Amino acid sequence: MLVALTVQQQLYQLNGSTPQEQLQELKKTAQFYCPQCKALLILKVGQIKIPHFAHVKKSDCDALFSEGESYAHLLGKQHLQELFQQLQLQPVLEPYLPLIQQRPDLLITKGIQKYAIEFQCSRLSPQHFQKRTEGYKDVQIMPVWIIQTPNDKFKSRGLTKLSINHTNAQYIQMYKNQKYLLSYDVHSRTFFYISNLFPIHGQQYFGYVQSIPLMKQIFPFFVPKKISENQFKIMLTKFAAYRLHFLHTRLHLSKKGVNDRLLRAIYELKLTVSNLPNFIGIPLSNNEQSDIFCVEWQLQLFYFMERHQLTPQTFHLKAIPYFLEWAKMQAHVNLPKGVTRYLMVLRKLAIETVQSKVTPEQLFTILYEELFAIPV
Ligand SMILES: [Zn+2]
Repeated sequence: MLVALTVQQQLYQLNGSTPQEQLQELKKTAQFYCPQCKALLILKVGQIKIPHFAHVKKSDCDALFSEGESYAHLLGKQHLQELFQQLQLQPVLEPYLPLIQQRPDLLITKGIQKYAIEFQCSRLSPQHFQKRTEGYKDVQIMPVWIIQTPNDKFKSRGLTKLSINHTNAQYIQMYKNQKYLLSYDVHSRTFFYISNLFPIHGQQYFGYVQSIPLMKQIFPFFVPKKISENQFKIMLTKFAAYRLHFLHTRLHLSKKGVNDRLLRAIYELKLTVSNLPNFIGIPLSNNEQSDIFCVEWQLQLFYFMERHQLTPQTFHLKAIPYFLEWAKMQAHVNLPKGVTRYLMVLRKLAIETVQSKVTPEQLFTILYEELFAIPV
Protein backbone atom coordinates (compact mmCIF):
# COMPACT_ATOMS: atom_id res chain seq x y z
CA MET A 1 0.00 0.00 0.00
CA LEU A 2 1.03 3.59 -0.54
CA VAL A 3 -0.78 5.26 2.35
CA ALA A 4 -0.16 4.78 6.09
CA LEU A 5 -0.97 6.42 9.41
CA THR A 6 1.76 8.26 11.28
CA VAL A 7 2.20 8.34 15.08
CA GLN A 8 0.24 11.62 15.00
CA GLN A 9 -2.65 9.79 13.26
CA GLN A 10 -2.02 11.68 10.04
CA LEU A 11 -2.22 9.98 6.67
CA TYR A 12 1.09 9.78 4.92
CA GLN A 13 1.33 9.02 1.22
CA LEU A 14 4.36 7.73 -0.60
CA ASN A 15 4.88 9.09 -4.05
CA GLY A 16 7.24 8.43 -6.88
CA SER A 17 9.22 11.63 -6.46
CA THR A 18 10.48 11.25 -2.87
CA PRO A 19 14.30 10.83 -2.96
CA GLN A 20 15.80 7.50 -1.82
CA GLU A 21 17.83 9.11 1.02
CA GLN A 22 14.73 10.71 2.48
CA LEU A 23 12.90 7.37 2.36
CA GLN A 24 15.82 5.57 4.03
CA GLU A 25 15.79 8.23 6.77
CA LEU A 26 12.03 7.81 7.26
CA LYS A 27 12.44 4.05 7.44
CA LYS A 28 14.86 4.46 10.36
CA THR A 29 13.12 7.19 12.30
CA ALA A 30 9.37 7.09 11.68
CA GLN A 31 6.71 4.57 12.57
CA PHE A 32 3.74 3.81 10.40
CA TYR A 33 0.48 2.02 11.05
CA CYS A 34 -2.17 0.41 8.91
CA PRO A 35 -5.16 2.79 8.41
CA GLN A 36 -7.42 -0.23 8.53
CA CYS A 37 -6.27 -2.61 11.29
CA LYS A 38 -3.87 -0.15 13.00
CA ALA A 39 -1.10 -2.74 13.09
CA LEU A 40 2.53 -1.75 12.67
CA LEU A 41 3.74 -1.44 9.11
CA ILE A 42 7.15 -1.65 7.60
CA LEU A 43 8.30 0.82 4.95
CA LYS A 44 9.86 -1.12 2.14
CA VAL A 45 12.43 0.75 0.13
CA GLY A 46 14.25 -1.32 -2.45
CA GLN A 47 15.93 -1.04 -5.79
CA ILE A 48 13.41 -3.01 -7.79
CA LYS A 49 9.97 -2.43 -6.36
CA ILE A 50 8.60 1.02 -5.83
CA PRO A 51 8.51 2.11 -2.15
CA HIS A 52 5.48 0.81 -0.29
CA PHE A 53 4.14 -0.19 3.12
CA ALA A 54 3.51 -3.76 4.21
CA HIS A 55 2.25 -5.36 7.43
CA VAL A 56 5.00 -6.57 9.74
CA LYS A 57 2.94 -9.59 10.73
CA LYS A 58 0.49 -11.37 8.52
CA SER A 59 -2.83 -9.67 8.97
CA ASP A 60 -6.54 -10.12 8.36
CA CYS A 61 -6.32 -7.05 6.15
CA ASP A 62 -4.61 -9.15 3.54
CA ALA A 63 -7.87 -10.63 2.36
CA LEU A 64 -9.40 -7.19 1.91
CA PHE A 65 -6.39 -5.32 0.71
CA SER A 66 -3.78 -7.15 -1.22
CA GLU A 67 -0.59 -7.84 0.65
CA GLY A 68 2.59 -8.55 -1.26
CA GLU A 69 1.31 -6.13 -3.85
CA SER A 70 2.87 -6.41 -7.23
CA TYR A 71 4.97 -3.70 -8.80
CA ALA A 72 2.26 -3.27 -11.43
CA HIS A 73 -0.41 -2.69 -8.81
CA LEU A 74 1.58 -0.05 -6.91
CA LEU A 75 2.62 1.71 -10.10
CA GLY A 76 -0.85 1.52 -11.62
CA LYS A 77 -2.36 3.24 -8.58
CA GLN A 78 0.16 6.07 -8.91
CA HIS A 79 -0.60 6.42 -12.62
CA LEU A 80 -4.35 6.54 -12.01
CA GLN A 81 -3.84 9.12 -9.31
CA GLU A 82 -1.87 11.27 -11.80
CA LEU A 83 -4.68 10.95 -14.32
CA PHE A 84 -7.42 11.92 -11.88
CA GLN A 85 -5.37 14.84 -10.58
CA GLN A 86 -4.98 16.07 -14.15
CA LEU A 87 -8.74 15.76 -14.56
CA GLN A 88 -9.10 17.79 -11.32
CA LEU A 89 -11.11 15.11 -9.61
CA GLN A 90 -9.26 15.13 -6.26
CA PRO A 91 -8.68 11.38 -6.04
CA VAL A 92 -8.28 9.84 -2.59
CA LEU A 93 -5.73 7.05 -2.57
CA GLU A 94 -6.52 3.88 -0.60
CA PRO A 95 -9.21 5.40 1.63
CA TYR A 96 -10.49 3.13 4.38
CA LEU A 97 -14.29 2.94 4.36
CA PRO A 98 -15.18 1.77 7.90
CA LEU A 99 -18.88 1.20 7.16
CA ILE A 100 -18.13 -1.58 4.73
CA GLN A 101 -14.57 -2.29 5.90
CA GLN A 102 -13.25 -1.92 2.39
CA ARG A 103 -10.40 -0.02 0.92
CA PRO A 104 -10.60 0.78 -2.77
CA ASP A 105 -7.43 1.69 -4.63
CA LEU A 106 -8.85 5.15 -5.32
CA LEU A 107 -12.02 7.02 -4.53
CA ILE A 108 -13.33 9.66 -6.93
CA THR A 109 -16.23 12.04 -6.60
CA LYS A 110 -17.83 13.53 -9.67
CA GLY A 111 -20.98 15.56 -9.11
CA ILE A 112 -22.93 13.66 -6.49
CA GLN A 113 -21.64 10.25 -7.59
CA LYS A 114 -18.78 8.49 -5.84
CA TYR A 115 -16.69 5.90 -7.69
CA ALA A 116 -14.41 3.24 -6.25
CA ILE A 117 -11.61 2.53 -8.70
CA GLU A 118 -10.12 -0.93 -8.39
CA PHE A 119 -7.04 -1.84 -10.38
CA GLN A 120 -7.02 -5.62 -10.23
CA CYS A 121 -3.65 -7.26 -10.73
CA SER A 122 -4.15 -10.46 -8.79
CA ARG A 123 -6.72 -13.18 -8.96
CA LEU A 124 -9.89 -12.36 -7.04
CA SER A 125 -12.33 -15.16 -6.30
CA PRO A 126 -15.92 -14.70 -7.55
CA GLN A 127 -17.06 -14.64 -3.90
CA HIS A 128 -14.69 -11.79 -3.00
CA PHE A 129 -15.53 -9.96 -6.19
CA GLN A 130 -19.26 -10.18 -5.44
CA LYS A 131 -18.76 -9.17 -1.81
CA ARG A 132 -16.69 -6.11 -2.70
CA THR A 133 -19.02 -5.04 -5.50
CA GLU A 134 -22.07 -5.34 -3.25
CA GLY A 135 -20.24 -3.57 -0.40
CA TYR A 136 -19.74 -0.51 -2.59
CA LYS A 137 -23.30 -0.58 -3.87
CA ASP A 138 -24.58 -0.72 -0.26
CA VAL A 139 -23.06 2.70 0.34
CA GLN A 140 -24.01 4.13 -3.08
CA ILE A 141 -20.49 3.96 -4.46
CA MET A 142 -20.14 2.81 -8.04
CA PRO A 143 -17.33 0.29 -8.43
CA VAL A 144 -15.15 0.55 -11.55
CA TRP A 145 -12.94 -2.45 -12.19
CA ILE A 146 -9.84 -2.21 -14.32
CA ILE A 147 -7.78 -5.31 -14.90
CA GLN A 148 -4.10 -5.47 -15.61
CA THR A 149 -3.73 -6.08 -19.37
CA PRO A 150 -3.31 -9.87 -19.35
CA ASN A 151 -1.10 -10.48 -22.41
CA ASP A 152 -0.07 -9.25 -25.84
CA LYS A 153 -3.25 -10.54 -27.48
CA PHE A 154 -5.05 -7.80 -25.58
CA LYS A 155 -2.68 -5.23 -27.07
CA SER A 156 -3.21 -6.10 -30.73
CA ARG A 157 -5.33 -3.62 -32.67
CA GLY A 158 -8.68 -4.20 -34.28
CA LEU A 159 -10.53 -7.49 -34.56
CA THR A 160 -8.96 -10.37 -32.74
CA LYS A 161 -9.71 -13.79 -31.30
CA LEU A 162 -8.68 -14.14 -27.70
CA SER A 163 -9.16 -16.16 -24.58
CA ILE A 164 -10.77 -14.61 -21.49
CA ASN A 165 -10.51 -16.84 -18.44
CA HIS A 166 -13.24 -17.15 -15.80
CA THR A 167 -11.48 -14.73 -13.46
CA ASN A 168 -11.19 -11.98 -16.04
CA ALA A 169 -14.64 -12.67 -17.47
CA GLN A 170 -16.18 -11.44 -14.22
CA TYR A 171 -14.90 -7.94 -15.03
CA ILE A 172 -16.74 -7.75 -18.35
CA GLN A 173 -18.74 -4.55 -18.18
CA MET A 174 -21.99 -3.82 -19.87
CA TYR A 175 -23.05 -0.35 -20.89
CA LYS A 176 -26.15 -0.05 -23.07
CA ASN A 177 -25.54 -3.59 -24.35
CA GLN A 178 -21.91 -2.87 -25.16
CA LYS A 179 -19.88 -5.64 -23.53
CA TYR A 180 -16.28 -4.79 -22.89
CA LEU A 181 -13.27 -5.33 -20.71
CA LEU A 182 -11.23 -2.39 -19.51
CA SER A 183 -7.57 -3.12 -18.89
CA TYR A 184 -4.51 -1.04 -18.12
CA ASP A 185 -0.90 -1.74 -18.96
CA VAL A 186 1.56 0.01 -16.62
CA HIS A 187 4.56 -0.53 -18.89
CA SER A 188 3.15 1.38 -21.84
CA ARG A 189 0.94 3.63 -19.65
CA THR A 190 -1.99 2.68 -21.88
CA PHE A 191 -5.58 1.56 -21.41
CA PHE A 192 -6.57 -1.37 -23.64
CA TYR A 193 -10.24 -2.01 -24.33
CA ILE A 194 -11.63 -5.25 -25.66
CA SER A 195 -15.12 -4.39 -26.80
CA ASN A 196 -17.96 -5.78 -28.91
CA LEU A 197 -17.27 -9.09 -27.19
CA PHE A 198 -18.62 -12.00 -29.11
CA PRO A 199 -18.55 -15.37 -27.33
CA ILE A 200 -17.36 -18.26 -29.47
CA HIS A 201 -16.86 -21.32 -27.32
CA GLY A 202 -15.75 -21.75 -23.71
CA GLN A 203 -13.23 -19.00 -22.96
CA GLN A 204 -12.79 -18.06 -26.62
CA TYR A 205 -14.12 -14.70 -27.82
CA PHE A 206 -13.84 -12.37 -30.74
CA GLY A 207 -13.37 -8.80 -29.72
CA TYR A 208 -12.31 -5.43 -30.95
CA VAL A 209 -9.14 -4.04 -29.36
CA GLN A 210 -8.45 -0.34 -29.06
CA SER A 211 -6.18 1.72 -26.84
CA ILE A 212 -6.07 5.06 -25.08
CA PRO A 213 -2.88 6.53 -23.57
CA LEU A 214 -3.17 7.16 -19.81
CA MET A 215 -3.36 10.94 -20.00
CA LYS A 216 -5.90 10.90 -22.88
CA GLN A 217 -8.44 9.02 -20.78
CA ILE A 218 -11.58 10.81 -19.63
CA PHE A 219 -13.88 10.28 -16.66
CA PRO A 220 -16.33 8.60 -16.45
CA PHE A 221 -14.17 6.36 -18.57
CA PHE A 222 -14.56 6.20 -22.34
CA VAL A 223 -17.08 3.59 -23.55
CA PRO A 224 -16.28 1.89 -26.89
CA LYS A 225 -18.63 2.18 -29.85
CA LYS A 226 -20.41 -0.58 -31.72
CA ILE A 227 -18.37 -2.15 -34.53
CA SER A 228 -19.43 -1.49 -38.10
CA GLU A 229 -21.46 -3.92 -40.22
CA ASN A 230 -18.36 -4.67 -42.28
CA GLN A 231 -16.31 -5.54 -39.23
CA PHE A 232 -19.13 -7.72 -37.98
CA LYS A 233 -19.21 -9.51 -41.35
CA ILE A 234 -15.52 -10.37 -40.92
CA MET A 235 -16.27 -11.66 -37.40
CA LEU A 236 -19.09 -13.85 -38.69
CA THR A 237 -16.91 -15.27 -41.48
CA LYS A 238 -14.28 -16.20 -38.90
CA PHE A 239 -16.96 -17.71 -36.72
CA ALA A 240 -18.30 -19.81 -39.61
CA ALA A 241 -14.80 -21.19 -40.20
CA TYR A 242 -14.51 -22.07 -36.51
CA ARG A 243 -17.90 -23.83 -36.58
CA LEU A 244 -17.00 -25.87 -39.64
CA HIS A 245 -13.63 -26.82 -38.16
CA PHE A 246 -15.39 -27.92 -34.96
CA LEU A 247 -17.78 -30.16 -36.91
CA HIS A 248 -15.10 -31.73 -39.07
CA THR A 249 -12.84 -32.40 -36.10
CA ARG A 250 -15.76 -34.00 -34.32
CA LEU A 251 -16.52 -36.19 -37.32
CA HIS A 252 -12.92 -37.33 -37.70
CA LEU A 253 -12.27 -37.88 -34.03
CA SER A 254 -15.47 -39.66 -33.25
CA LYS A 255 -14.98 -43.37 -33.00
CA LYS A 256 -18.42 -43.82 -31.53
CA GLY A 257 -20.12 -43.35 -34.89
CA VAL A 258 -23.87 -42.91 -34.56
CA ASN A 259 -23.62 -43.24 -30.77
CA ASP A 260 -22.11 -39.78 -30.69
CA ARG A 261 -25.12 -37.64 -29.78
CA LEU A 262 -24.11 -34.84 -32.11
CA LEU A 263 -23.59 -37.08 -35.13
CA ARG A 264 -26.70 -39.05 -34.26
CA ALA A 265 -28.79 -35.87 -34.33
CA ILE A 266 -27.31 -34.88 -37.70
CA TYR A 267 -28.11 -38.33 -39.07
CA GLU A 268 -31.66 -38.46 -37.68
CA LEU A 269 -32.40 -34.98 -39.02
CA LYS A 270 -31.23 -36.22 -42.45
CA LEU A 271 -28.46 -33.64 -42.58
CA THR A 272 -24.73 -33.91 -43.13
CA VAL A 273 -21.89 -32.11 -41.43
CA SER A 274 -21.25 -30.10 -44.60
CA ASN A 275 -24.85 -29.00 -45.23
CA LEU A 276 -26.07 -27.93 -41.78
CA PRO A 277 -28.56 -25.07 -42.08
CA ASN A 278 -26.95 -21.70 -41.38
CA PHE A 279 -29.30 -21.12 -38.42
CA ILE A 280 -27.94 -24.11 -36.48
CA GLY A 281 -24.80 -23.17 -34.61
CA ILE A 282 -25.26 -19.45 -34.21
CA PRO A 283 -23.55 -17.42 -31.47
CA LEU A 284 -25.75 -15.77 -28.86
CA SER A 285 -24.78 -12.90 -26.62
CA ASN A 286 -25.85 -14.58 -23.39
CA ASN A 287 -24.16 -17.89 -24.09
CA GLU A 288 -20.86 -16.93 -22.55
CA GLN A 289 -18.32 -19.21 -20.94
CA SER A 290 -20.30 -22.23 -22.04
CA ASP A 291 -18.20 -25.37 -22.35
CA ILE A 292 -20.66 -26.75 -24.85
CA PHE A 293 -20.43 -25.30 -28.33
CA CYS A 294 -23.60 -23.71 -29.71
CA VAL A 295 -23.87 -26.05 -32.70
CA GLU A 296 -24.09 -28.97 -30.30
CA TRP A 297 -27.05 -27.90 -28.20
CA GLN A 298 -28.84 -26.18 -31.08
CA LEU A 299 -28.76 -29.43 -33.08
CA GLN A 300 -30.09 -31.34 -30.08
CA LEU A 301 -32.91 -28.82 -29.79
CA PHE A 302 -33.99 -29.45 -33.39
CA TYR A 303 -33.69 -33.20 -32.88
CA PHE A 304 -35.83 -32.91 -29.73
CA MET A 305 -38.44 -30.78 -31.53
CA GLU A 306 -38.61 -33.25 -34.41
CA ARG A 307 -39.04 -36.19 -32.03
CA HIS A 308 -41.82 -34.36 -30.19
CA GLN A 309 -43.45 -32.81 -33.24
CA LEU A 310 -42.73 -29.31 -32.07
CA THR A 311 -41.55 -26.18 -33.87
CA PRO A 312 -39.82 -23.10 -32.48
CA GLN A 313 -43.27 -21.44 -32.53
CA THR A 314 -44.99 -24.19 -30.53
CA PHE A 315 -42.13 -25.05 -28.18
CA HIS A 316 -43.14 -23.76 -24.76
CA LEU A 317 -40.36 -22.12 -22.73
CA LYS A 318 -41.46 -24.17 -19.73
CA ALA A 319 -40.32 -27.27 -21.62
CA ILE A 320 -36.68 -26.15 -21.66
CA PRO A 321 -35.73 -28.14 -18.52
CA TYR A 322 -37.24 -31.32 -20.06
CA PHE A 323 -35.28 -30.74 -23.22
CA LEU A 324 -32.01 -30.24 -21.30
CA GLU A 325 -32.62 -33.38 -19.28
CA TRP A 326 -33.40 -35.32 -22.45
CA ALA A 327 -30.19 -34.04 -24.08
CA LYS A 328 -28.21 -34.76 -20.87
CA MET A 329 -27.17 -31.11 -20.77
CA GLN A 330 -28.78 -30.06 -17.49
CA ALA A 331 -25.36 -29.45 -15.91
CA HIS A 332 -24.77 -26.38 -18.10
CA VAL A 333 -26.10 -23.54 -15.99
CA ASN A 334 -26.15 -20.89 -18.73
CA LEU A 335 -28.01 -23.02 -21.24
CA PRO A 336 -31.62 -22.25 -20.22
CA LYS A 337 -30.97 -18.56 -21.01
CA GLY A 338 -29.25 -19.50 -24.25
CA VAL A 339 -32.08 -21.79 -25.38
CA THR A 340 -34.67 -19.10 -24.61
CA ARG A 341 -32.76 -16.55 -26.66
CA TYR A 342 -32.23 -19.00 -29.49
CA LEU A 343 -35.96 -19.79 -29.69
CA MET A 344 -36.67 -16.05 -29.90
CA VAL A 345 -34.23 -15.69 -32.79
CA LEU A 346 -35.72 -18.71 -34.61
CA ARG A 347 -39.21 -17.27 -34.19
CA LYS A 348 -38.10 -13.92 -35.60
CA LEU A 349 -36.65 -15.76 -38.59
CA ALA A 350 -39.94 -17.70 -38.97
CA ILE A 351 -38.15 -21.05 -38.91
CA GLU A 352 -40.32 -24.16 -38.66
CA THR A 353 -38.00 -27.09 -39.32
CA VAL A 354 -34.42 -27.85 -40.39
CA GLN A 355 -35.68 -27.61 -43.97
CA SER A 356 -36.58 -23.93 -43.55
CA LYS A 357 -34.43 -21.46 -45.46
CA VAL A 358 -32.83 -18.27 -44.24
CA THR A 359 -30.73 -16.06 -46.48
CA PRO A 360 -27.28 -15.03 -45.22
CA GLU A 361 -28.50 -11.40 -45.23
CA GLN A 362 -31.48 -12.17 -42.99
CA LEU A 363 -29.25 -14.06 -40.59
CA PHE A 364 -26.65 -11.30 -40.62
CA THR A 365 -29.20 -8.61 -39.82
CA ILE A 366 -30.69 -10.48 -36.90
CA LEU A 367 -27.31 -11.47 -35.43
CA TYR A 368 -25.96 -7.94 -35.70
CA GLU A 369 -29.03 -6.85 -33.74
CA GLU A 370 -28.95 -9.75 -31.31
CA LEU A 371 -25.25 -9.66 -30.49
CA PHE A 372 -24.69 -5.97 -30.61
CA ALA A 373 -27.92 -4.34 -29.61
CA ILE A 374 -25.92 -1.21 -28.96
CA PRO A 375 -27.38 2.20 -29.74
CA VAL A 376 -25.02 3.94 -32.18
ZN1 LIG B 1 -3.95 -3.74 8.27
